[in-house]
Amino acid sequence: MTTVPDGVPQVLLHHIGGEDVPSADGATFDVLEPVGSAVYVRAAAGGAADVDRAVAAARRAFTDGDWPHLRARERARVLTRVADLVEAQGPRLAALETFDTGLPIRQARGQAARAAENFRFFADLIVAQRDDALEVPGSQLTYVHRRPVGVAGLITPWNTPFMLSSWKLAPALAAGCAVVLKPAEFTPLSASLWPQILAEAGVPAGVFNLVHGLGEEAGDALVRHPDVPLLSFTGESATGALIAANAAPHLKGLSMELGGKSPAVVFADADLDAAIDSTLFGVFSLNGERCTAGSRILVERRVYDEFCERFAARAAAIVVGDPADDGTEVGALVHPEHTAKVLSYIEIGRSEGRLLAGGGRAPGLTGENYVAPTVFADVPPTARVFTEEIFGPVVVITPFDDDAEALAFANAVRYGLAAYVWTNDLVRAHTFAQRVEAGMVWLNSHNVRDLRTPFGGIKASGVGHEGGYTSLDFYTHRQAVHVSL
Ligand code: NAD
Repeated sequence: MTTVPDGVPQVLLHHIGGEDVPSADGATFDVLEPVGSAVYVRAAAGGAADVDRAVAAARRAFTDGDWPHLRARERARVLTRVADLVEAQGPRLAALETFDTGLPIRQARGQAARAAENFRFFADLIVAQRDDALEVPGSQLTYVHRRPVGVAGLITPWNTPFMLSSWKLAPALAAGCAVVLKPAEFTPLSASLWPQILAEAGVPAGVFNLVHGLGEEAGDALVRHPDVPLLSFTGESATGALIAANAAPHLKGLSMELGGKSPAVVFADADLDAAIDSTLFGVFSLNGERCTAGSRILVERRVYDEFCERFAARAAAIVVGDPADDGTEVGALVHPEHTAKVLSYIEIGRSEGRLLAGGGRAPGLTGENYVAPTVFADVPPTARVFTEEIFGPVVVITPFDDDAEALAFANAVRYGLAAYVWTNDLVRAHTFAQRVEAGMVWLNSHNVRDLRTPFGGIKASGVGHEGGYTSLDFYTHRQAVHVSL
């Protein structure tokens, strides 16, 4: 087992109504670290009784407490303090996140700053927010009265867990909701930082509640709880579909950020150096465990051979190793179960394409979760490795002959999260962007976010968008009040 960073608790508890508590029935589950797959902590395994307690605490804080009624400026002050406290935890958070998720430490270091920025951003937004007043002169005035929906259930995945939870917590709290957060069972560690940070910043007890546990137990109880009117979920598309079905009898508000199999399209007129740098980063950063990974690279045939050769050489030179090591570029995948899934796709890929780099566990490393960056070329768009989300350091490359074929290949999967286009032809770039089935498109660039813009996918990649005022709209009711003049 790798070195355990300072400050890892002996046990991970729920946080309900301002207190750290075990599960009502005392149940726990084992949490593994990814380097040695050793159990490093036991976490409280929440069940229906724990979710019930957490929802009751959140409801009390929402209906009897001040939080939903604070002036925007007052809530914004608290959120800004959260941001400062998160930022102050930067090095510690990076160490915990790397230890728990296997992300390279160099990439984990940015997570606190991004999480803090999410809080600052929504603090600014609620202060600047305005709603419509519409007049029919001499007849009627209508204004929009906005109020928080109530208790929000937040269910998060194991990749970049702290940052992704901040992307839900910040707008939910900014809007005035109370929340119950259910973090992913593979990586529950960094969520244990929230109770202290939020309390110290001035979030009243009961407004934030945390229930650990398995998806089909704690998560499911939250999904079906009648006093949780809205759910924000990030995770796999199959889980999203199940949650939507289970929430349907309660007619809950749903925001679903789901899986992806995003194309990176490289035309022959592109700046090939920049395209290679970016597509490598796009699929191998964060261990390839990234929802917006450009995991299908489509390359115009004229530059296909050159691209494949240069890309594969760079992929083969990527440093795989201990996530805590500063030189590491790809760390350990999150969990043996996930590694087994990624390796099974690599086996499938061997018969569906031409292996150019990697092809299995990274050589020379002890630890079952080290997977070599793997590149398959000549993969047809019907292949499983082309159409299914692998969520690891595996990429497929496919040639195309013209714009129409590139577009058809890009749209040939059920997902529609992101797309990346590399070309120096302005018209082609924008035409392609407007036709590709993706919620977000980056032209000659990658993955830099602007928090004001809509974030989310179409098709099987999501329902609803987050980001900017869209997030605040999700967590609030907008009531139209009509007055006769
Ligand atoms: P997952 O769907 O297995 O789990 C996500 C969360 O849902 C976990 O907390 C889990 O415990 C919970 N869960 C599982 N079953 C549940 C159920 N029946 N009811 C309620 N909750 C349940 O996803 P994962 O493996 O943790 O994460 C990886 C996936 O997340 C990938 O598909 C990735 O693309 C996606 N993702 C999407 C985005 C985005 O913004 N679109 C961002 C990050 C990750």
